[in-house]
Amino acid sequence: MATTVFTVDPTAINGEFIQRAAGVLLSGGLVAFPTETVYGLGANALDALAVRRIFAAKERPAYDPLIVHLVDVADLGRVARDIPPLVSDMAAHFWPGPLTLVLPRGADVPLEVTAGGETVAVRVPAHPVAQALICAAGVPIAAPSANRFGRLSPTCAADVLADLDGRIEVLLDGGPTVVGVESTVLSLVGEPVILRPGGVSREALEAILGPLTVSERSVLPAEDLLESPGLLLQHYAPQAPLVLYIGTPSAMRAAYLSEALRYQQSQTLVGLLVADEDLPFLAGQDLLVETVGSAEDLETVARRLFSALRALDAAGAEVILARDFGVTGLGLAIRDRLTRAAGGRVVEVPALEDVR
Ligand code: AMP
Ligand code: MG
Repeated sequence: MATTVFTVDPTAINGEFIQRAAGVLLSGGLVAFPTETVYGLGANALDALAVRRIFAAKERPAYDPLIVHLVDVADLGRVARDIPPLVSDMAAHFWPGPLTLVLPRGADVPLEVTAGGETVAVRVPAHPVAQALICAAGVPIAAPSANRFGRLSPTCAADVLADLDGRIEVLLDGGPTVVGVESTVLSLVGEPVILRPGGVSREALEAILGPLTVSERSVLPAEDLLESPGLLLQHYAPQAPLVLYIGTPSAMRAAYLSEALRYQQSQTLVGLLVADEDLPFLAGQDLLVETVGSAEDLETVARRLFSALRALDAAGAEVILARDFGVTGLGLAIRDRLTRAAGGRVVEVPALEDVR
């Protein structure tokens, strides 16, 4: 099957393309579309067969549940039940936007969507193309990220095609996404807990909900990762093995630079994922370097993170050394994705004062 690509300007949406894409969804087909976080791979969430096709196209294991996308919080009753009062507060602050809420599953949501579970993840995306598509379809849209399982989430249409061309009916190309990392997943079944850090910061949620725990499954210390690498290996990963360095800027730099030079000596093409502030220290080294912007501007870092990793892959990097960006604001989601991409290869570098 050939994938039809419709280019849709988010500021002047072509209604005919949206109608055709919505028609594909209503007849059980798959449509990839931009959201503000990453591109999603959509199917009618109430159509179990269509949802199964998402898993087939992505080669995604059936145990990994999907996020259901709505055009407005008013539709929540179609997919969830026993909705806690807190939800209206959260929706007022963060919807439309990059926050996914986990709630008790509504009876009409097929178990294919929730991986057999009694909870459902729901989000109202802010992207105008996503809004127009869901509105035109008139049904909730199940949509995981539009990549093959284990790979990096796509932040532009070309990334979607690289993984899914010929496996989906339609791709709506709305240009590069703005947030660049996936949504924050917050469970409201029982005590609120962050299951996955993402586009809405922990601090923003805590300003409303008070102190929150971040699920251990998301951010594990390095020792635990090594004990159970299967939990994280293969997730959000570039093709080249990645090593993440955590520490003060100067300590990180010293550690990854000496490692990079070692690789270089053994004729291994090493790629570095760095911040603008690191560039002066790399000048004249003839290394493969991708910067994701200033470490002071985490919105830009998040937006550019996945495309920078893809660029290092495309340039033939055999190993990628990445620096960390702390855990403040979007830093937490960035560290989470880099930790998963590293699959346990995390080096915590002591501050330089501590080493002689
Ligand atoms: P993706 O949209 O590709 O980022 O994947 C959706 C992710 O949302 C899953 O991998 C889970 O981490 C999370 N998720 C979806 N549904 C649930 C649920 N019912 N409970 C907990 N997490 C969920
Ligand atoms: Mg995904």
